[in-house]
Amino acid sequence: MSQNINISKIETSKVDTLDFNNIPLGKTFTDHMFICDYEHGHWINPRIEPLRFIPIHPAAMALHYGQAIFEGMKATINANGIPMLFRPEKNAARLNFSAHRMGMPDFPEDLFVEGLRQLVALDKNWIPPQEGSALYLRPFMYADEFFIGMRAATSYKFIIIASPSGHYFSKPIKLFAETKYIRAAQGGTGEAKAAGNYAAAIKPSEIAKAKGYDQVLWLDAHNFNFIQEAGTMNLFFKINREIITPSLDGAILSGITRMSVIELLKDKCYKVTERPITIEEIIEAYKDGTLEEAFGTGTAVGIAMIEEIRYKETTIHVSDENPVAQMVLNTLNGIRSGSLEDKHHWMNKIEMDLGVTL
Ligand SMILES: *Cc1c(COP(=O)(O)O)cnc(C)c1O
Repeated sequence: MSQNINISKIETSKVDTLDFNNIPLGKTFTDHMFICDYEHGHWINPRIEPLRFIPIHPAAMALHYGQAIFEGMKATINANGIPMLFRPEKNAARLNFSAHRMGMPDFPEDLFVEGLRQLVALDKNWIPPQEGSALYLRPFMYADEFFIGMRAATSYKFIIIASPSGHYFSKPIKLFAETKYIRAAQGGTGEAKAAGNYAAAIKPSEIAKAKGYDQVLWLDAHNFNFIQEAGTMNLFFKINREIITPSLDGAILSGITRMSVIELLKDKCYKVTERPITIEEIIEAYKDGTLEEAFGTGTAVGIAMIEEIRYKETTIHVSDENPVAQMVLNTLNGIRSGSLEDKHHWMNKIEMDLGVTL
């Protein structure tokens, strides 16, 4: 299925107003957005327009019942000026996985990728060039039917917006293992990238921040013992030379960075194990000196080194050096910027012959 994307361009680009060395994170958006409507059982009128406010009815169902999902990914530019997307078909598939869980319609995966490609082609000048920086892309879908009542909506919008993000050197982070609130339970919506999961996480995150921690480490909903994930990241631990990451248990979000990092580590001949892992096991490893590294993975941060984890009265000081995490971060950044070979064909290059007249 290939639909024509109708393009109306902005008269004058605002890109000249952007200071690429000082980009306000999450506050700056490119000239255009992709938008598509779902009505009477079909996605219609895919188009790229100048970014604008969208009118919304006060009874729009997303506002009341929370049918809202999103994706997060990045476009980078290589030394030859070619924009590239990182595994966009994985985001397309995950959006639909989330949509199913939330009773929302599928979005055509080829149109998802094509919309991204054309939007990025058009707003190419907004991609920060330095390795480690990128154009953050935010595809999302929400119920915009106006109706008071509990059922699946019949009309939706799918939109993609884009926001440049500069190279930020993330310093090692501290996690607070939450033992009162949960993020997700098996059978719930934790596996879906649903807006509501974040709603449930905001208050615990604010509490953790007030205590001096960067993010919450989420434990399982039954007995607060098995490690799930943190904030917007999946977690990896290096214990006794082995890399361990919690197996996807039905409540953990399946990160595309997570799956890519597992492949990269296997390429480098590390032993990588996906299995349930408890906070007690991490404390034991810390006490007997076998806990070597911990890091988080996600599109927004890339790789975040973890220096400390707090669990009840115990403070786990993980490590001051993170050679594996640093190697993974450099490898990912190198593949994304084109300076390292893309062995797995993860990069989706956007050559300029898309029929987009620039
Ligand atoms: C998006 C997200 C991640 C990371 O997924 P990536 O595909 O690697 O960006 C991890 N946890 C949660 C809760 C998320 O929403």
